[in-house]
This record gives sequence, C-alpha cells and structure tokens, in this order.
Amino acid sequence: MSAQAACTFAATLALCCLVAIPSLAAQPAPAPAGMEKVELADGVYLFRVPPDGYARANTTVIINGRDVVVFDSNVRPSTTRLVLAEIRKLTDKPVRFVINSHWHPDHWTGNSVYAAEFPGVQIIATEETAEFMKRVAPSWPAVFAGGFKRREAALTEAIKSGKNADGTPFTADQRRDTESSVELYRSFVAEQTTVARVFPNLLYRDRLTFFSGAREFRLSSQSGDALSSTVLYLPKEKVLLMGDLLVSPIQWGTNSYQITPWINSLKALAALDIKAIVPGHGAALRDKEYLHLVIDLFESIVAQVHAALEEGAVIVDDVQKVVNLDSLRARFTHGDAELEADFNATMPGLIKIAYKESRDGMESRR
Ligand SMILES: [Zn+2]
Repeated sequence: MSAQAACTFAATLALCCLVAIPSLAAQPAPAPAGMEKVELADGVYLFRVPPDGYARANTTVIINGRDVVVFDSNVRPSTTRLVLAEIRKLTDKPVRFVINSHWHPDHWTGNSVYAAEFPGVQIIATEETAEFMKRVAPSWPAVFAGGFKRREAALTEAIKSGKNADGTPFTADQRRDTESSVELYRSFVAEQTTVARVFPNLLYRDRLTFFSGAREFRLSSQSGDALSSTVLYLPKEKVLLMGDLLVSPIQWGTNSYQITPWINSLKALAALDIKAIVPGHGAALRDKEYLHLVIDLFESIVAQVHAALEEGAVIVDDVQKVVNLDSLRARFTHGDAELEADFNATMPGLIKIAYKESRDGMESRR
C-alpha cells in the first residue's frame, strides 16, 4: 500500500498528515504514467511520451543558460502540455525555439501549446517542410475520422464473428486490447478536429547553425521518411536528434519513393562523432550500431530489388516474394515474436519504396 493510500485510513490520518504531506509538498509531482525522461547530456532531456493513440513521437528538450529549445512537439496538444509541465519542473526559463523535424502530424501538432505559452517563440523547419504542412494538414481531420470508422467497424465485425480478419479466433485478450486502442484513437481523433495548427515561422533551406550561450545547434536538411527533414546535431555534447530518419526498434518508411537519398543522409550522419542518438520514435541509442544496421537493411533491400527487376520481376508483389531479409530480421528482432511481427509487417513498405525508386516512381500492373 502506498503512503497516500494509507492516508485514507482514519486511524493513521493524523500521522500521515504530519509525516507524508510535508515531504510530498517538497517533491515535484510525479511524471504522468507512461512518461519517461532520459538525460542524454548536461541539460539535454529526451521525453518519451505516454501512448497517445497515434505513434508516440519523441520530444527532446534542451535547457540552455537563458532559454530552452524543444525538438518536435507531439501529435496531441494535451501531450505537449504534459511535456511542458515536465519542463517546468526542470526550469522556469522560456522556450525560445521549437524545431519541427518534418511535416508528419506527430512532430508538430503541439506547436500551438508553445505558441500560446511563449508569445514570440520561433518555430523552425525547412521551407519544404512548411509547404507540406500547409498543403497536407487540412486533410487530416477527415483522414483520421475515416481511420476511426474503419477501426471501429473492424472491431464490431470481430466481436460479431469471433474471428480476426485472417480467420484466427478473436480472443478475450485481443478484444480488451482492441477496445482500449479504439477508445484511445477516438480521443485522439476528437482532439485533432479542434486543434489550432501553428506553422513554423523561421524557415531555412540547407543548413542553419545558431548558439544559445556556449551551446551550438547545427540543423541540416536531410532525406528520410519525409523529404527535407531537419536533423539536429549538438557538436559539443555529441548528441544527434534524427527525427524519423531513424525509428527504433524496427525501421519504417512511409515516403513514396525516396530510399537512396535517405541512405546517403544516414551514411553522412553516421560519420559524425556521436555519444547519443535520439530516433523519431523509440528509445535513445548510445552508439551507432542500430544506425549502421538500418543502413545495412536499406542497402540490402535496394540491391535485392534491383536484382529482381533485372531478372524480370514486373509487379511489386513479384519483388516482395524474392527479397530475403532473414539474416537482417534476426539482427533486428533477436527472435522476439512481437518484433518479428512488426518487422514482417513493415518491410513490404520499404521494399515498395525501393521498387518505385528503381522504376522512377512507376508501379506496373500485369
Ligand atoms: Zn513520426
């Protein structure tokens, strides 16, 4: 029983009030459930946020001598407010810059929270990122509402039939997990329909370097899961914030056909002196091993896709059948069944990107 729970017993009320409350008052409130804070270097904190119904993108907070810089701002403003409350436990300095790594919603929707709290905050992104935001974001409320309808319909059907879409039994555990994830998605969609989107107001093209006191921030535009993504390197601390150029523990890719420029960006970044890497999603990495693993994966996919096409493969399914990633799968999953399922679900998307890139974007049918 916790000290707080014990306080509910009348017999111990006086003791608790005398002992527990003063010590609690001296402590900051605990982080919300699911929020994880990792200090990567002096004043550099990764916040891994609680499940949000979308993709739990990372936020990194850098506390300088006189101000604070935030890299990526979450998909739900309610999550951003949790991060801001955590920042307030660390410092009362103002957030001066928010950096948006790319245009996908899980990396910038919370801009509105910082803009409201810190008038004049500079929100940094590449010019192309800002253009994509303006053109794609208006579609999101409709896209997410459609996604919710499909999830809800699939759940209703599984309950009715007692089976998953692949014919396997829909177990009680699966029903409980699916119901709670549909519910979480419902609240995510509701928040997206009312959100006020705040766009970047400080744009750059290739590189941007600035200083806050002695701390140097090197931003560069790189190719990744989104075109013209921003990567931040702190040269003194040797910390690299990669946005969705890198996702752990299984790399995914949603861009349409851009894998070779992505490989080139990963290789250039792997040449940096690095003590910590923050991927767009997943735990911080303390060495370059995973970065090299993703480069190996991409290069293997590209080489195998090229070989299949040169042998006469026509449609993307032909290519999917012959690309063999068994040894790479083992290096990502180490036999973990859940990671294997993720890997198997994710690779067709990467293979399709390589197929389309190899054919200048064209996807053929028989
Ligand atoms: Zn993301």
